[in-house]
Amino acid sequence: MADVKALRCVIGGCRFEVDEVSYTCPVHGELGTLDILYDYADLRARIDRDAISASPRADCWRYKALLPVAPAARVPPLSVGWTPLYDAPRIAQQLGLRSVWVKDDGANPTGSLKDRASALVLARALEQGIGAVSAASTGNAAAALAGLGASLPEIDIVIFVPASAPAAKIAQLLVYGAEVLLVEGSYDEAFDLCLEACASYGWYSRNTGVNPFTTEGKKTAALEIAEQLNWRAPDALMVSVGDGSIISGIHKGFQDLLELGWIDALPRLIGVQAEGSAVLANAFEQGLAVADIAAKAASTIADSIAAELPRDRAKALRAVRATGGAFVTVSDAAILAAIPEFAQLSGVFAEPAAAAVYAGLKAAVSAGLIEAGESVCLVSTGNGLKDVARARESVSGGTRVAANRAAVERALSKAGRI
Ligand SMILES: *Cc1c(COP(=O)(O)O)cnc(C)c1O
Ligand SMILES: [Zn+2]
Repeated sequence: MADVKALRCVIGGCRFEVDEVSYTCPVHGELGTLDILYDYADLRARIDRDAISASPRADCWRYKALLPVAPAARVPPLSVGWTPLYDAPRIAQQLGLRSVWVKDDGANPTGSLKDRASALVLARALEQGIGAVSAASTGNAAAALAGLGASLPEIDIVIFVPASAPAAKIAQLLVYGAEVLLVEGSYDEAFDLCLEACASYGWYSRNTGVNPFTTEGKKTAALEIAEQLNWRAPDALMVSVGDGSIISGIHKGFQDLLELGWIDALPRLIGVQAEGSAVLANAFEQGLAVADIAAKAASTIADSIAAELPRDRAKALRAVRATGGAFVTVSDAAILAAIPEFAQLSGVFAEPAAAAVYAGLKAAVSAGLIEAGESVCLVSTGNGLKDVARARESVSGGTRVAANRAAVERALSKAGRI
């Protein structure tokens, strides 16, 4: 295990022992999210990347030595992470880039990158003998917690989700048997209610931007990308951003690898937001201090990136600023069009929030944020089956035919197939 050296507050640099604080900094409150820091000199001396490359574990626990859990710690049995990194030469060619890589995190057990955070939080809960874990979510974090929780009979899961979440996501929660509260309000309202309930009933909170273990779980996506590229970072990495927790976790992963000397440079991190939910993109554009960021009503078809006040705003802005990255925004129409275009060019079927990253890539190339000859990794954060209604809206076609051979011939001939 990586011995945790300290928890450090992103706002004031306040330091704590790992067992001293569970969530955010007691001095800086909700804004003072914590980084989990390790003794990197010790890790460098004890662990080398070739040993990890030789690991037979085909999931995120191949990096257990770089995570805050004991070597013998029990972890949820579902296989989270070690998702494919696909080369997408047709996208690269179309945009004049050297290479485009697609990290398909929709291939996780519950269909999104959120499984990584839930796996780590549940490992921590097992270690601490905690019996109930709760989260608020636009859907995917909840499904991840409910699914991985279902694999652990001793842990109860309580979910707060907006009643307006896509049907597939709510179905997933119910199928996994979690206690599900369908909140008649926004994600942000569900989030605040969940925090209050955790405080009142003593449940462990898996909430994004609150529990520092979520960032450590999400960082495993970056560790994998670097290893899959033979311990190199791409020139730029793009990921869609709601609360800003994934981009923060990816930053932390690459930062850990840089500290270890396993990679030479960080990728520029480029966040993609929906035009109707762009608090962080606007803050970046205007050069705002984190404390001056205000909530704004959010509206987008990409439900997974709708956030009025991004909970991990401090870490997310730091990730983009510290790596020389940027934000781009994309319209709902561009997101919808991206679903089939991305699928047809890469073979990866992404939910709206994930397909947004492909729309964002086109915007970033037009804006000169990524130059010809560079390599880019797109993180596809969620599976297209998560929101079938939007996927269906994004395409037309399909020819109805009577159930006889003559009708089939007529249709194929009209389509120019025969
Ligand atoms: C959660 C999520 C995001 C955004 O992650 P944040 O940490 O909220 O920025 C993007 N895409 C999908 C599919 C997600 O589930
Ligand atoms: Zn602090």
